[in-house]
Amino acid sequence: MKRRDFIKLSLTAGATAAASPFLAGAIPFRDSIAADALGDTIVTTPTVCNMCFWKCAGFVYKKNGIPWKITGNEADLHCQGRLCTRGTGGIGAYTDPDRLTTPLMRVEIDGQQSFKPVSWEEALNYISERLTLIKEQYGADRVAMFSHGDGASHFRHLLKAYGADSDSHPSYAQCRGPRDMGFELTFGEGVGSPDRTDMENARCIVLIGSHIGENLHNAQVQTFTKAVERGATIITVDPRFSVAASKSQHWLPIRPGTDIALLLAWIHVLINEGRYDQEYVAQYATGLEELHQYIQPYTPEWAYTETGIEPDTIRTTARAMAKASPACVVHPGRHVTWYGDDTQRSRAIAILNALLGSWGRKGGFYIPEKVRIPKYPTPPYPKAKSSWRDFTQTRYPLAHHAVTNTLIDASRGEDAHYKGWFIYGTNLPMTIPGIRDQLQEAIDQQELVVVIDVQPAEITGYADIILPECSYLERYDRLRNSPERVPSLAIRAPALEPRGDSKPGWWIAKQLSEKMGLGDYFPWSDYSEVLDWELQQAGSSLEEMKTLGHKPYPRKTPLYFAPREPRRFRTPSGKIELYSKTLSEHGFDPMPAYTRPDPVPEGYLRLNYGRVAAHTFGRTQNNPLLFELAPENVVWINPLIAADKQIRSGDYVRLKNSDGVISNEVRVRVTERIRPDSVYLPHGFGHTDKRLRLAFGKGADDSALMTRPAVDPIMGGTGMRTNFVTILTEDA
Ligand code: SF4
Repeated sequence: MKRRDFIKLSLTAGATAAASPFLAGAIPFRDSIAADALGDTIVTTPTVCNMCFWKCAGFVYKKNGIPWKITGNEADLHCQGRLCTRGTGGIGAYTDPDRLTTPLMRVEIDGQQSFKPVSWEEALNYISERLTLIKEQYGADRVAMFSHGDGASHFRHLLKAYGADSDSHPSYAQCRGPRDMGFELTFGEGVGSPDRTDMENARCIVLIGSHIGENLHNAQVQTFTKAVERGATIITVDPRFSVAASKSQHWLPIRPGTDIALLLAWIHVLINEGRYDQEYVAQYATGLEELHQYIQPYTPEWAYTETGIEPDTIRTTARAMAKASPACVVHPGRHVTWYGDDTQRSRAIAILNALLGSWGRKGGFYIPEKVRIPKYPTPPYPKAKSSWRDFTQTRYPLAHHAVTNTLIDASRGEDAHYKGWFIYGTNLPMTIPGIRDQLQEAIDQQELVVVIDVQPAEITGYADIILPECSYLERYDRLRNSPERVPSLAIRAPALEPRGDSKPGWWIAKQLSEKMGLGDYFPWSDYSEVLDWELQQAGSSLEEMKTLGHKPYPRKTPLYFAPREPRRFRTPSGKIELYSKTLSEHGFDPMPAYTRPDPVPEGYLRLNYGRVAAHTFGRTQNNPLLFELAPENVVWINPLIAADKQIRSGDYVRLKNSDGVISNEVRVRVTERIRPDSVYLPHGFGHTDKRLRLAFGKGADDSALMTRPAVDPIMGGTGMRTNFVTILTEDA
């Protein structure tokens, strides 16, 4: 069986019986047990939410052995005691009757490929035999991994021990990478997660393409809300009248794709009116003279012709930022892969913040700190003969992480470098735009494709072996130790017994290691031993953390720069680099260069996408609790377009892109809140895997319409706002 058919599984192959998960024997945790006034037994277990990657600490409650609710941990700054919609809906990740609950193996019967349930022994033996063959025939370095999420760490460790060093996270080239690169080139370090924005002390917040509110990063939304309440000036730049825009003094409905023009004009005003932080820039920055010269043509009047934003509005908003400086955050955003010039866009945002003196200052960007804990001792990894660098950095020398597309490319063709794939927690066909043909081609060349996930997804249809991981409520994961305002540790402990035959990631990786003679790298019998060892190094213990869930530690370094303190930045010059020699040496513009976006073709609309507050990417649509809140996405259409097409709110239409790709039917919302040159479609819907019985076929998949992504030449990010669509009505 060489070529792999994409298997659209029938519901019989490995689907969980629809019996109530509440009947699954949930074991009481031995501590944190109490009885309430009615005599019910309440058991609480600490967790770290995994419904998105903000990592809020909380507690899982069971009442009389039945999963009851999840709440936020009051002590945790990620959530300040309150979980978001998705976090409270975490119980649905456990109860989802469509979860994967047994290992599945691809088989061919009468020429027809399908999956059959197999034992763990059979599945793990198969994987370990294939990995051994790949190692013998080609070399251990010829295995790539694609991953998203904390649980991937166990498999990364396993593959490094095996001799592979090619792990890529789609979140780099499809989400945050350009932001981190833009800030690293300017300040020598990135924004991190949680974002180091000091919004709780900001007097002015500028959101340029960052829709806080619909993008629910918990504490960020809470501090933003508090900033609104205490009268901070909010400036929102968005072609759409977003929730954040509705809370703003200034909404700038910019022409899509022209952000850099606006940013350059703002820089122009700050410099030419002498409103930048001159002392800060003189002490910490280099390249002001070059920036001053470069910026001269980019007047607000010039920017008006590009952006559609009035020159007066540009000046007024720039002055509002300067007035609040340094307590002004020009927010770096998070998902920033839009037009292929995204590193330059992020550089412009970083430079603007530098001019406002907000980096390292109260109300701007604080200095994050994490708890220092030594690594649990395991043998050193063997040196991999090749790594992701050989494929990513030959194309994007400045990229600090693997670009997923480059590893997919290196897996295609008769001379494909990679011969085996591990895919953990990432649904590649719906995550990477325009990839489906290449994905099939690459997977056809693999000797082994392993998918590890909690639930079925489009990617599982490409696997040889599907390994069912239990949900985050049923497993230990590594400690949360994020760089942040107050260093802290938080723990995710198993609150519920694994459903069916699903297993924790650490268990799966350990079993594989033993089968492959790599057991020395997993020298413990249960992952709780690793956690306890690490916690002991930090003066705590697993026992203590099972009660606390979260523990803050005193900072060892200041939260902000001291006034006029000497400081060396981690850039080549040791200064904040307004002019980037690094970019220039690699043949890129050393200053943020503006490229006019392609105009919208006659008869088309720009496809903009985003999020709904109830869902994370395409991961949560089948969660029964969240499905109830948002079962499908809705396309926003301006009334002018709607009138022309005779469409009303509630009608269903299809979107067709300029390459002829047609979406599922999607419900319409006619609203003035979107510009007439664009439509807006939340991401993550339109699943095609029938095993997702709730989410299957609900709404339209924006990523399928993104057939023409624009690649960022600096770091390989895939700009996804470069497609155009028409609207098909039933009568068309
Ligand atoms: Fe969970 Fe919401 Fe926090 Fe994300 S922001 S970790 S979904 S509670």
